[in-house]
This record gives sequence, C-alpha cells and structure tokens, in this order.
Amino acid sequence: MPIATVNPANGETITSFDALGPEETERRLATAAGAFREYRTTGFDTRARLLSRAADLLDEDQEKIARTMTTEMGKPVKAARAEAAKCAKAMRWYAANAERLLADEEPADADVRDAGASRAYVRYRPLGVVLAVMPWNFPLWQVVRFAAPALMAGNVGLLKHASNVPQTALYLEDLFRRAGFPEGCFQTLLVGSKAIEAILRDPRVAAATLTGSEPAGRSVASIAGDEVKKTVLELGGSDPYVVLPSADIAKAATTAVTARVQNNGQSCIAAKRFIVHTEVYDAFAERFTDGMRALTVGDPAQESTDVGPLASERGRADLEELVDDAVRRGATALCGGARPEGLGGGLEGGWFYSPTVLSGITPEMRVHHEETFGPVATLYRAAGLDEAVALANDTPFGLSSNVWTQDTGEMERCVRDLEAGGVFFNGMTASHPALPFGGIKRSGYGRELAGHGIREFCNATTVWYS
Ligand code: NDP
Repeated sequence: MPIATVNPANGETITSFDALGPEETERRLATAAGAFREYRTTGFDTRARLLSRAADLLDEDQEKIARTMTTEMGKPVKAARAEAAKCAKAMRWYAANAERLLADEEPADADVRDAGASRAYVRYRPLGVVLAVMPWNFPLWQVVRFAAPALMAGNVGLLKHASNVPQTALYLEDLFRRAGFPEGCFQTLLVGSKAIEAILRDPRVAAATLTGSEPAGRSVASIAGDEVKKTVLELGGSDPYVVLPSADIAKAATTAVTARVQNNGQSCIAAKRFIVHTEVYDAFAERFTDGMRALTVGDPAQESTDVGPLASERGRADLEELVDDAVRRGATALCGGARPEGLGGGLEGGWFYSPTVLSGITPEMRVHHEETFGPVATLYRAAGLDEAVALANDTPFGLSSNVWTQDTGEMERCVRDLEAGGVFFNGMTASHPALPFGGIKRSGYGRELAGHGIREFCNATTVWYS
C-alpha cells in the first residue's frame, strides 16, 4: 500500500511519501532508545506539563488537523473537530491523573509481615520503547489513546500509522515535539506494514500495541510472542444493540442511527447488529429505517454532511460484497443496499455507500458473523431476552454491547451474560479516559484508557525490605 493522502471523497491523490529506509529506521530506533534512558527518570510533574502543553497546541490546531483528517480518510469535518477535542481532553485527564494511577501500591500490614518483610510495595515503572501500529479510522484518537498514558508512564512511543493517513501521522510527531517532549520521545515511522517485523524484533523495542484488523493483530502478536514481548490488541467488533419492550423506542431508534453511522460506519465500537424484541420490533424498525434513510450523504468537508465516503475503495468493495451476499441469500434491504446516485459536485469518484438496513438475517450470511465496516446495519427479531442474549453472543467478536431496557433484572442479566468488554444501557458505546476500553474473544485483549490502560505498559515491580 503506498504511503499517500488520497481524498476518499473523489479518489484524488493529493500527496505521497517515500517509506523510510533501513538506515533512517535504525537512526530513529537508536534515538528512541536514547530518549528512554533519560525520559524514564523525569517526574510526573514534568511529563504532565509537557502533555498539557500538547493539549493546548492541539486545541489551537483543531480546525487545521480536523480538515487534514477529513481529507485523508473522509470523516465528516464536524466529527473530526470533536475527535481533536476529545484527544486534548484525554491528554489533560492523564496529565492530571497519571501520578495517582501509578502510585506505589502497599499490601495490608498483615500480608507484608506474612511475606517476611518490614515493608513491601509495588512500583509501576515504564517498560521502554513501545511500538504503536494504528489504523486510519480515528487517526488522532487511536494514537492519543495510546500515547497519553504511555508518555505519562515514562515510556517512549514509535508510531507506525496506517499508510493512508501520513499527514496526520506526521502532525502527531510534530505536536509532541512542539509541546517540548525531548527528541525521540514520540516518533512517526513512515513505513509499510512489511517493515514492522524487523522493528518489533529489535531488542530496543519493548512492547507493541495494535488497533486494526484481525490479520494485522495476529501477525503482530505472533511476532511479539516469538520475542516474548507484551502486546495489547484492539481489533474489530460487531457490537449488539439490544432493544427490549420497556425501552424508550423513539430514543433507542434515534440513538441507533448515530451508533451505526458514526465515522461513516467505520468504528470498531459502532453498534452493528440490532436485536429487537418482537413486541417492539415493528415500531423500532420503522423509526430506525426512516432515520437511516434521512441521513445526508455527501462531501465530508461540508458541515451538513452526516455520512461521508468509506476511507478506501477496498473498504467499500468489502462492504458491498457483504451486503450482496446477504441479499443473495434472502436478506431484505429496508433502505440503501447500493451506492448513492447523483451526488454531483465532483464526488463521482468517491467511495460512498448508502446507509443500509438489512432484515431477515440468517446464520449462513457472512454479515451474521463478519464485521460490517461501513454504514450497514443488520436487524434481528428476538422472541425474548434469552434469544436476544444468545444472538448478541453469536459472534466471534466481543468488544462492547448496548442494551435498551428499564428493567433492572434484565440489566443484571445482561451484565452477567453478554460476552463483551463493555455493556452500555440506554445509550451508545463511547470511550472515556476514565473508563477502560477493550474487548474479549476476537476483539483482542488488554485494555486501553483509565488505570488499566496506563498499567499495560508498566513493569509492576515488587519492592521488598527484610
Ligand atoms: P489493517 O488492520 O490492515 O490496518 C491497521 C494498521 O495495521 C495499519 O497501520 C496497517 O498498516 C497495519 N497492518 C496491516 N497489515 C499488517 C500486518 N500484517 N502486520 C502488521 N501491521 C499491519 O486495517 P484495514 O485498514 O485494512 O481495515 C480492514 C479491516 O480492519 C476493517 O474493515 C475493519 O474490520 C478492521 N479495522 C478495525 C479497526 C478498529 O478500530 N478496531 C480500525 C481499522 C480497521 P498499512 O496501512 O500500512 O497497511
């Protein structure tokens, strides 16, 4: 894949970059290792000052970087601004909370005595150089979600960003440099995915985090496993959105539209499978389909656009194959099911797809167990809670889940039984710096954000005094 900015709204190549060669990659690895030796000794106050400065700069740059993201991967510009603001907020949150999250942990006195110690505690120390392999869908947020805690913990970062967002990748390196982080604390490596193995095997790299597809995750995790290096994986999702009879159906349907088409439908935590109790199925299906049909598809640089193009031609082709397979096997497209026509305005070459609702899904259809990474929803009818939970869990993924009900018994049942890294009631899944984020099953392992995230790349060191 070339390292290039190609505008997905019209297919035009704007700029391309040469990949770093082995010598330049080596220089950057050496710089990262050198930076870690010094940076690891800095205090939380210094790191917090630098990260807060980065947040301020990001706020100042918001319009510019939002437009860059929109040009590189097609998200509506209003969503791009919100992404930049969310990144600044996460930076400030970690600047304010990292010292508390990584404070020494002391066992109970009786346990300390039982361990034969006069004193004992756990100290969270940084691991070193962490390689971050990141995707294009939230090109700022995915990186900041890793970088803010990693830098606060005293680690240094090497970013291998997706090849279609090189300008956002370079912006991030520049942002941390301008904020005052010492040279080498955060570097962008403009390299293709083939270069990852050698970097990951390099002894100066301590660990890796990857957000992206399952094949990419499997590859990075197996190389890291071979080298006995820690990994965190955040892979795909096919989150269920369960609607039960006591729910506010109008609100559930309105939120469902946003939950499905956020980021042009290309979000790992987007709700993708809508599982509706038979008592409220018709009312929900009608409102939801109307909402999907009413969305404005078009130029993501325009304020009025709800749904822009898919980020790549391949991404749209994958989505079309999934929809076509389902329809061939008997699914009904209640709306959409094709490319939009007559967009005009120079968008003919763009990779657009109409918001789509598919009903009549059966297990033979690929959409039943594969991720739809675009504005396509699958709708299921469930006879009761048992069937809804069974359908929700009938997926290889386990990232998050959404349930609409007012019944506390049903809520408890879902918290107990849904196979996912999160359960969100009467709302849609969203990440927040103070709440851990990540999945189970094929959605990956490990957690990002909150205390869980910052400790993933720390050495929990036992300190014992006789
Ligand atoms: P990829 O997983 O291919 O890309 C994500 C990152 O991984 C990029 O930096 C990419 O680099 C890199 N990468 C790709 N292949 C390998 C590999 N074999 N070893 C190491 N790194 C690799 O995602 P795609 O863009 O191809 O999207 C495909 C599907 O992945 C989507 O349809 C969706 O299902 C899922 N996905 C999930 C995301 C999430 O948020 N969980 C985000 C993006 C995608 P390069 O760009 O140079 O190939």
